Amino acid sequence: MVSVAIDGPAGAGKSTLARRLAAEMGYIYVDTGAMFRTIGLYALRAGKDPKDNEAVNALLPEIELHFAFIDGEQHVYLKEEDVSTAIRTEEVGMAASAVGANPAVRAFLLGMQRDMAKKQDVLMDGRDIGTVVLPDATVKIFLTASPEARAARRWKEYQEKGVNTPYEEVLADVKQRDYQDTHRAAAPLKQAEDAVLLDTSELDFEQSLAAMKEIIAAKLNG
Ligand code: C5P
Repeated sequence: MVSVAIDGPAGAGKSTLARRLAAEMGYIYVDTGAMFRTIGLYALRAGKDPKDNEAVNALLPEIELHFAFIDGEQHVYLKEEDVSTAIRTEEVGMAASAVGANPAVRAFLLGMQRDMAKKQDVLMDGRDIGTVVLPDATVKIFLTASPEARAARRWKEYQEKGVNTPYEEVLADVKQRDYQDTHRAAAPLKQAEDAVLLDTSELDFEQSLAAMKEIIAAKLNG
């Protein structure tokens, strides 16, 4: 099986790029952030503080999380409920970042992530795919951009969805999430030694896509 691991901070364009690449390559796109977001959503709905590891751990046995791929699109379910849209809020993103620092949550999701890569060719994005989840991935890319460039993209996405979060707030969230993701003890966000670094601050979508294709082709054909 071929696996492409794409890691990097929030808003670097991982999911949009990975989704398009997967469609072109005929691979399954696995968005691991959606798994953490779903646990975050569950904790919030249960009235628990996502930072409270003990409270979140007590919820884990009752969480029935699964994935389905409909027309190549990943959908996430909590029991029967499709939560793919509900997990896309800033609040749930912060909750995801909080539960992502919890080792029990990471262990809970690790098996699911590895299984998906065993069964099919995947493009998997997250924070620790190249370092922890798939250390033997065929290709590893660390995708990044400046906090300002990432916040500007997120802000634009929100505007397009009719969500009016001020830019300053989005930037503050990006920075806080970066801090949480890089400073946690459990699987912190960091570039794998054998990952190729791609900074997209100055690149538009098509340029970023072309750069990723070049990196992948070089590994697969080299
Ligand atoms: O990528 P996305 O913004 O959806 O991820 C939400 C949060 O989930 C991240 O801020 C990160 O803390 C956490 N996460 C993680 N490990 C992953 C994917 C996401 O810790 N593999």
